Amino acid sequence: MSDLVDKLICENLKALKPYESARRIFAGGDSDSETWLNANESPFANDFNINTAHFNRYPDCQPPKVLLPYAEYAGVQADQLLISRGADEGIELLIRTFCTPGKDSILICPPTYGMYAISAETCNVGIEKAPLNDDFSLDMPALCAYQGKVNLVFICSPNNPTGTSIGKAQLKQILAHFADSALVVVDEAYIEFDANNTWSKELAHYPNLVILRTLSKAFALAGLRCGFTLANSEVIQSIMKVIAPYPVPEPVAQVAAQALSQNGLKQMAEQVEYLQQQKQWVKQQLSQFPALELVGDDKANFILFRHPQKQSLMDYLVANAVLIRDQSKQINLDNCLRITLGTQQQNEKLLALMASFFTQQEKSA
Ligand SMILES: *Cc1c(COP(=O)(O)O)cnc(C)c1O
Repeated sequence: MSDLVDKLICENLKALKPYESARRIFAGGDSDSETWLNANESPFANDFNINTAHFNRYPDCQPPKVLLPYAEYAGVQADQLLISRGADEGIELLIRTFCTPGKDSILICPPTYGMYAISAETCNVGIEKAPLNDDFSLDMPALCAYQGKVNLVFICSPNNPTGTSIGKAQLKQILAHFADSALVVVDEAYIEFDANNTWSKELAHYPNLVILRTLSKAFALAGLRCGFTLANSEVIQSIMKVIAPYPVPEPVAQVAAQALSQNGLKQMAEQVEYLQQQKQWVKQQLSQFPALELVGDDKANFILFRHPQKQSLMDYLVANAVLIRDQSKQINLDNCLRITLGTQQQNEKLLALMASFFTQQEKSA
């Protein structure tokens, strides 16, 4: 590093490694020639129209054409909703709004989504950990011991990458336990795949409840960068102090509005149903491979499994242009790989490659 950059860069960023997103790991790839099953994206690329008539104007900070239909879809009031550049920006805004750098901390329950910790680190906010139990349920005593020591508690449900959802009774207990000391942030990025377990209808009962949502997964719009924070209006108003003046670009608002139309919602529901069926079939096929152990649960659009030869399997798939995600560096996930459900054709390709990999292994053994 140059002397000047070294002198100026924030102390807390010196040792920080940027988030290894699925797209960064295989940067410059091509989703037409490769099969991408590594980022929990939807395999469907839906059509939208763009009207350029007002591109010379700054957009609404919170465009009503997105806010109102999403509020209705989620069953919340418009003043309980914030639109941001993906749920990832929602995570960062929560940390910047409710944690003082160098002083406050967040609580996470690994193995879980990586961005909570990355965002906290970039903001010089502390990270406390209450790792999940061996069955990926919450370690309630460990978690509750952080009362008064953290400002935000991040709970991902369905959890990425374990596919497990948190039970209502447990979450109620957590909300009550942290009622006077922390916001409990339930990340519902995959909620359309486990729709009965949403907490969005409960905002009125829990002033410290915050919910994160996104159009990146079930709505098949990861490229759009559009997410939502659902919370009581005081929380939303506080975040509005921190958010950029024009966080939702006009083309994003136009596409999001179409995705949230009646037709858009119907299409999303059909595509979710398709992926749910693929999931059952792929799971059943995977379970027949030698020494392969399905791990966690199936509440989202991906499947996690463990295999002692995970590295050579992964290398074999990459060599054949099929990308999945290595999760083995996370706590309790040694030898684990994660597959995002694709189209039937993509899933068949993956399974055929895995079958030939295991046949080769048998022969060489
Ligand atoms: C994908 C994902 C996000 C990020 O959503 P964006 O809206 O694309 O930023 C947030 N949380 C979890 C658990 C995710 O898996």
